[in-house]
Amino acid sequence: MDFEHWLAKLADFLVAAGVPAEHGPMAALGTVFLALTLLSLVVVALLLRRNLRSGKVRAEVTAEPVVEGSEAAAEVATEEVSPLEAAEAPVSEPRPKPEAVPEAEQPVNLFQRMRQGLARTRTSLVGRMDALLGSHASLDREFLEELEEILITSDFGMQATQELIQALTGRLKEIDQSQPGQLHRVLGEEIRARLKTGEPDWPTPESGPLVIMVVGVNGVGKTTTIGKLAKQFADQGKKVVLGAGDTFRAAAAEQLEIWGARAGAEVVRHAEGSDPAAVAFDSAKAAVARKADVLILDTAGRLHTKINLMEELKKVRRVVDREIPGAPHETLLVLDATTGQNALIQARIFQEAVAVSCIALTKLDGTAKGGIVVAISSQLDLPVRLVGVGEGVADLRPFDADEFVAALFAND
Ligand code: GDP
Repeated sequence: MDFEHWLAKLADFLVAAGVPAEHGPMAALGTVFLALTLLSLVVVALLLRRNLRSGKVRAEVTAEPVVEGSEAAAEVATEEVSPLEAAEAPVSEPRPKPEAVPEAEQPVNLFQRMRQGLARTRTSLVGRMDALLGSHASLDREFLEELEEILITSDFGMQATQELIQALTGRLKEIDQSQPGQLHRVLGEEIRARLKTGEPDWPTPESGPLVIMVVGVNGVGKTTTIGKLAKQFADQGKKVVLGAGDTFRAAAAEQLEIWGARAGAEVVRHAEGSDPAAVAFDSAKAAVARKADVLILDTAGRLHTKINLMEELKKVRRVVDREIPGAPHETLLVLDATTGQNALIQARIFQEAVAVSCIALTKLDGTAKGGIVVAISSQLDLPVRLVGVGEGVADLRPFDADEFVAALFAND
């Protein structure tokens, strides 16, 4: 049947429906035109909807995670305060606030990130070393004494500094004074030899979730480190539960909730001031019930006394171990690189109380004294597992000793 025939049938139908007979063919044409217009509109609407949807998905996939605000200096202990003073001082709590995505979140070369993070240390350490080479007629005792001072003031610590100077003394003939790169290479090799690197991967428990208990005094970057870790695990497709065990600091639980939302991780929290061991118990139960891959447990960083804090941490350990035998599989101590040698004292205090198994050293980007990494490695029997070189998620990096040394002496 051709189009004309259809049109005639439609015209008959319209005349039967009451359209005057002389207007039948015109009304039929109009109806066909109207139907075609409607059909095109529907097709256009469908196409638009599809485009909008795929655009939205693309935007979600490429959206950068929002990163915590910088309060870096606010709660950081200085050289003059006692190592656990932060744990006792009444500090007003800033509200957690999600902030704009920093540029650092752009996918840049990871080595460049490390290099940028160590810029202050590199400028101070390497700059002074090169000036020293230029200002001395020969690599004599005086040169070595001044180099020793540079290392001490870069927080390498007495022990590592003396070891490094001794090793350099024996290798001076390898260094041509007019070639600063040779001093960098020899010192770099000696530093590398003193850096411990732990297992690159987190342990895999035989059954149940990997439990990481995170300890450290207030302000070191504990909550942020937990948040970044959670996001990194989630990005690897792991199911994460967070336990907001720092019930002493209300803002900590809120901060964790913000991170939890970013990472798609469930956050178990109780009311402010409640028993952290109860949070640990509920978190462990939730992690098992939800078949989570990882449970990261925050703990208090400040209680009324050091003894209280340490007893609390022991109790949390016991509770978690009861619920998930063998847990916590890792006890991660967070230390702030900007607190210098205090970080070492904190580490010793925590080591005595809980079986710390590894260290996260935060805020390396905020100090010119990155030698603390070497001091920690040579004076504590603990591997540095993670380093923080900025506030972005990707700025929390697994510690790689070769990369650290290369970034420390990299040319600008
Ligand atoms: P907590 O009290 O130990 O839980 O400390 P927070 O996690 O609240 O961190 C205190 C401040 O340090 C926050 O402003 C963080 O953004 C900041 N911070 C944490 N890690 C790093 C880091 O590696 N580099 C820099 N620049 N800031 C950091």
